[in-house]
Amino acid sequence: MKISNTKLRIKRHHELRIVKGHPWIFSNEIENFSALKNIEKGSLITVQINKDDDFALAYFNPHCLIAARILTYDLSQKIDEDFFIQKILAAKNLREKFYDKPFYRLIHSEADFLPGLIVDRFGDVLSCQISTAGMEKLSPLLISALEKTLPDAAIIFRNDVEARKFEGLELEVKIVKGEIPDEIEIEENGLKFLIDVKNGQKTGWFFDQRENRKFIGSISQNCDVLDAFCYSGGFGLNALKNGAKSVTFIDSSEDVLKILEKNLSLNDFSQKTEVICAKVFDVLESSDFQKRIFDVVLLDPPAFVKSKKDFFVGLKGYEKLTRLGAKLTKKGGILMLTSCSHNATLPDLIAAANEGFRKSGRKAKLIRSFGVGFDHPVNPALKESEYLKSVTFLVE
Ligand code: SAH
Repeated sequence: MKISNTKLRIKRHHELRIVKGHPWIFSNEIENFSALKNIEKGSLITVQINKDDDFALAYFNPHCLIAARILTYDLSQKIDEDFFIQKILAAKNLREKFYDKPFYRLIHSEADFLPGLIVDRFGDVLSCQISTAGMEKLSPLLISALEKTLPDAAIIFRNDVEARKFEGLELEVKIVKGEIPDEIEIEENGLKFLIDVKNGQKTGWFFDQRENRKFIGSISQNCDVLDAFCYSGGFGLNALKNGAKSVTFIDSSEDVLKILEKNLSLNDFSQKTEVICAKVFDVLESSDFQKRIFDVVLLDPPAFVKSKKDFFVGLKGYEKLTRLGAKLTKKGGILMLTSCSHNATLPDLIAAANEGFRKSGRKAKLIRSFGVGFDHPVNPALKESEYLKSVTFLVE
């Protein structure tokens, strides 16, 4: 693909973060921004530091705060089908070291050196999500590279993520190859799950919680378990498989609970289960529910800190959830709280939880902090890519 004739020059004193490998360039860090304003969004551009040293190749969008994202530091590298094939094969190799079944996140954006792209693999179905104009422009190369590396796979683009609006992109869902069944059966931690990639949330499934679900399974024998914000049952089913006495599921989406019911029958459990379709805070605050008690309480809400301006309100949300969850936890029981907010760090989450325990009058011991599974690598230069935090407490 053609590279823009004009190069992007980084302002003096702004190079260090970029030289250290952070792949984003903000519009206010660009020396010659006015000369680049009319470049078509998504174009390839050479990035220069120290006035005129060519440093990297990026894609560029003049309408965005994150104006450029670096694709490669090898200036002789052509951004072509082979570039994508190499990245996909390297990513696939990593996943195959850990998983013997083809169900995993295949491409995790900047961490797999393909910024703005997520690909989840459900066997022979690839559910992709593009969030930037640069990756959108490169998508024909991506599609042909996916066809070469995984020739049997059907491909759907779940490009209905809000972040696309910042890049001036339409929100859409489109099938670009093959047929996508209404439900796909996958296996995770030895359990069967049905996935609706066309209508499910995000790409259809949250692969990032696989290790945390396994951990919950490992401590759930003979336990009464609460799975709040359950989606189609990832955590609760792991608990049932490992001998939980009962699981209570709560989610506000009827659609996901229909799949949960199917997942429960697919795995043929005999224990007691209860499915509540309602808002979690409403249930946890209701006087009837407050009489209940659980050995294991799981709280896996959607992101409360969606942007920096939501920081304090969002953290109050985690605090309140912990306070309500702690009241429902048996003495000596376990409470797991997770956050998928990029903008809240692990210490932020622990501090919010601590405040929640204090306000509920309970004492807690932090026994485990964990992030994502192996198929969600982190770019060590980009702390924003470390989004998922899961903290587990023993509650006294
Ligand atoms: N625990 C799940 C993933 C949770 S995603 C897993 O392991 O796969 C967050 C879920 O919260 C979604 O299913 C969404 O429908 C649900 N949700 C969002 N807001 C909610 C609310 N206020 N009350 C109940 N559920 C909510």
